[in-house]
Amino acid sequence: MSEHRLGDVIDDYCIKCKRLTNHQIVSVLEAQPAKVRCRTCYNDHDYRFEVVPPTKKELKKQAELEAAMAKAAQDASGEQPPA
Ligand SMILES: [Zn+2]
Repeated sequence: MSEHRLGDVIDDYCIKCKRLTNHQIVSVLEAQPAKVRCRTCYNDHDYRFEVVPPTKKELKKQAELEAAMAKAAQDASGEQPPA
């Protein structure tokens, strides 16, 4: 367990740089970083716990998977002959 303090430099995902960059802690809440500032573009944002959001490619893949599953469910329920 490492305690985070103001001014510490940690990794986090920067939405402006669109990648993990060094961030300086600018706000601490209950020993956890609350707000951080990107050391590359100096953008302040909430600490994201180093979570990288899915890329557009991953979102597209996910949407295609959901569409395929919805279609499969529709096909399965559509096999009954009309009354
Ligand atoms: Zn940045």
